[in-house]
Amino acid sequence: MANGLHHVTAISGPARRNLDFYTRVLGLRLVKRTVNFDDPGTYHLYYGDEAGAPGTILTFFPWDNVAPGRVGIGETQETAFRVPQGAIGYWTHRFIAAGVPHEAPARVFGETVLPFRDPDGMALALVGVPGAEAEPAWTGGDVPAEHAIRGFHGVTLLLREDGPTARILTDVFGLTETGREGALARFSGDAGRGGHVTLRAVGEFLRGRPGGGSVHHIAFRAADDAAQAAMVRRLTEAHGVQVTEQRDRNYFRSVYFREPGGVLFEIATDSPGFAVDEAAAHLGEALKLPGFLEPHRGEIERVLPALA
Ligand code: ZN
Repeated sequence: MANGLHHVTAISGPARRNLDFYTRVLGLRLVKRTVNFDDPGTYHLYYGDEAGAPGTILTFFPWDNVAPGRVGIGETQETAFRVPQGAIGYWTHRFIAAGVPHEAPARVFGETVLPFRDPDGMALALVGVPGAEAEPAWTGGDVPAEHAIRGFHGVTLLLREDGPTARILTDVFGLTETGREGALARFSGDAGRGGHVTLRAVGEFLRGRPGGGSVHHIAFRAADDAAQAAMVRRLTEAHGVQVTEQRDRNYFRSVYFREPGGVLFEIATDSPGFAVDEAAAHLGEALKLPGFLEPHRGEIERVLPALA
């Protein structure tokens, strides 16, 4: 059973700038164009590989006039994508040509990491992974197949201490500790894509402030409702953690909880996926609404900004 990350959801500035960066510069596929179900005047944009497979999905709530966030304790500090090991040079040149702020590649846990930022200042990285060229990618964009992003490598969470969060990762999500380096502790699942969660314990530090460029929450995979329910039982019975009731997100079914380190976690089912309401060949082309919002399509389309 595959475990690890299902998706990462972040907050951004204007939708059009966000769409441009993730589809044109990074070459991801827009796999769903919908609205925030809890705030339908706002887009919810999903990017991923060709199918939007679990472990590849980065989603955004874009706001035209968002105030910038500040990364701090209890937040995701960095979101990393996998690329083939030989692709790091290509990406460095691509970032220079496109004016994308980035740092020199560094070695972390024996891997080459190229840190960069999106137009909202969101901290991202590309990690060169041997063998990643064999994994699926979206090749309908501008990035040649041999260099294309292969979904998430993982996330780094900024925490006061790593112990309580580590216990949730290992005991509830079935990750195992695979390395320690300085203040970093890495936990990994059995799926390559989205498989790594790194905890950075820094002691007392400022708390994060949500805003543009902040990660709102990260979601872990559950194969189905039964697997999700078993995780919820484990959280409440063994860890005393309160979990929301299940919400139907159309493309997956979700529960949410605040983990002991302060980060908002979600558990999302692998099914039904993004082809549930439009053909796989046309993902992301039309605005899709859940049934309960369809009667309001006219007003919703009037308030949403144009994407093209
Ligand atoms: Zn989510």
